Amino acid sequence: MAPTHHPSGQALANFLVGDCSPGASLLIARHVKLCASCSSRVHAMGSVGVESAPVACGEREILAPGLEIAVVTGVSGLGEAVYCVRAAPGVGLPQKEPSSAVEVLVLEGGLEADGVSYRAGDYLSLEETPKARLISAATTGCVYLKVTHAASGQATD
Ligand SMILES: [Zn+2]
Repeated sequence: MAPTHHPSGQALANFLVGDCSPGASLLIARHVKLCASCSSRVHAMGSVGVESAPVACGEREILAPGLEIAVVTGVSGLGEAVYCVRAAPGVGLPQKEPSSAVEVLVLEGGLEADGVSYRAGDYLSLEETPKARLISAATTGCVYLKVTHAASGQATD
């Protein structure tokens, strides 16, 4: 099924000129690879093609029962980290752990955000539209990538 939730036109434009973080760029590149609609949009904006590097994950950690998280290695922006999260069906998905999520790309299965369903290939910007509650799909669970930004102005030691 074709993705139904896309990065904004502004996000695609920023991505094409390189004006976005490495993490956001990874998620958008993967979405564009999967999405005929966004692929034709970036072509219309003058791009000849989008490279999407393979994702390499570090060691998995159990965050909660049915919830595993791994850092995606080789992608690091300033104060930014990318995680691959694997959730069992019907599990509540933390947005603030280990730090605040700003973008999400669903890889497998699906999730619900405030009652709206997102499936494989769908892209959510939590920065533009914060969601109160994310939960993995009740039948399939989900695997997704999320970009997080460390909270600014809050020094932790
Ligand atoms: Zn798209």
